[in-house]
Amino acid sequence: KRPTSPRSTASVQVVIRLRPLNDREKKHGTLPVVSASTADKSVTVIKGKGSHQARSSYGFDNVFTAFSSQEEVFDATLKPIIRDVMMGFESTVFAYGQTGTGKTHTMEGDLDNPEMQGVIPRSAKAIFEALKTPDYSHFSVSCSFLEIYNEELCDLLADPDSSGPKLDIMVGKNGPFCRGLSESPVESADDVFALMRRAQNQRQVGETNMNKQSSRSHCIFTLKIDAKRVLEDGSVLEVGGKLHCVDLAGSECAKSADLEKGNDSQAARERERKNINQSLLTLGRVVSMLKEQSQSKKKTNVRIPYRDSKLTRILQESLGGRCKTCLIATISPSVTAIEESMSTLNYAHAANGI
Ligand code: ADP
Ligand code: MG
Repeated sequence: KRPTSPRSTASVQVVIRLRPLNDREKKHGTLPVVSASTADKSVTVIKGKGSHQARSSYGFDNVFTAFSSQEEVFDATLKPIIRDVMMGFESTVFAYGQTGTGKTHTMEGDLDNPEMQGVIPRSAKAIFEALKTPDYSHFSVSCSFLEIYNEELCDLLADPDSSGPKLDIMVGKNGPFCRGLSESPVESADDVFALMRRAQNQRQVGETNMNKQSSRSHCIFTLKIDAKRVLEDGSVLEVGGKLHCVDLAGSECAKSADLEKGNDSQAARERERKNINQSLLTLGRVVSMLKEQSQSKKKTNVRIPYRDSKLTRILQESLGGRCKTCLIATISPSVTAIEESMSTLNYAHAANGI
């Protein structure tokens, strides 16, 4: 017996989260130029002053304002997706946006403060809560944490003392996967939090030792669930669900920066920039094509460009088909970030389908 996909949520969702002005911006009297409306699910940007003022509005599947809580974001995005995952489906959620706009806040948040926990800790809690109910008889859950930096793969949960196997993308019977990536078993949400802390430390070590900048890498956190689900008629179904949560490289890292001429790292930085640009563009294309596909009645035979970046290649089996995808684009309300906010809104709008 195969489970049927619940029709409760759209296959592909693109949502915006506007962060509040921070203390520094408030102190400097920075004006907010972006507003979000939950009622009509739109975001408005005001450019220029007086008679030169121009407003642009964009509509999305959902919009979160500066007042939206971590709980509201989870309830509206991940909660319905977790139900799918618990029935044996794969799903992916992405956080896209300029550095400092709230990607990590949305994904991880403050692990120590239940109210401020992001979607990953909340998902972990929801998953273990569901597994404790009589709907499940046996289960095993594991975590992996993969970093993609400059199109190179790094295992954030590998034993830091051993050099470990070199990671690469292989194609198995279920499509592409990352060979050598560790899958750490977890038995509770607290176990998940402990691994998240370990990964955060690993990233910091890499940042100092290898001169990496974490805003330039994509991080894929994966929870894999294998369970025996007890159906209403008493029969038992084996389900294998997966949830990927991706904290993307800062969108500003895809743009050319004014680098000092003759600097040794200039060529390396340019290569990094191109890789980030390529992977974010590919992701945007993939999401918009999946959205289009999910909305059209006819079966279309378009080639989805998964292979154009490692990020989409690794996630290929968890994007499209019966899988649910959610892109959360985060933006700053500040006038100082207006160009980057417009760029994020345009990206998200294109991903949302034209
Ligand atoms: P990013 O990961 O996109 O670089 P962060 O998540 O680190 O950005 O956010 C930058 C800062 O802004 C952090 O101190 C974070 O706690 C704060 N922040 C971001 N979004 C929000 C929000 N919606 N509400 C309150 N604080 C936020
Ligand atoms: Mg971050």
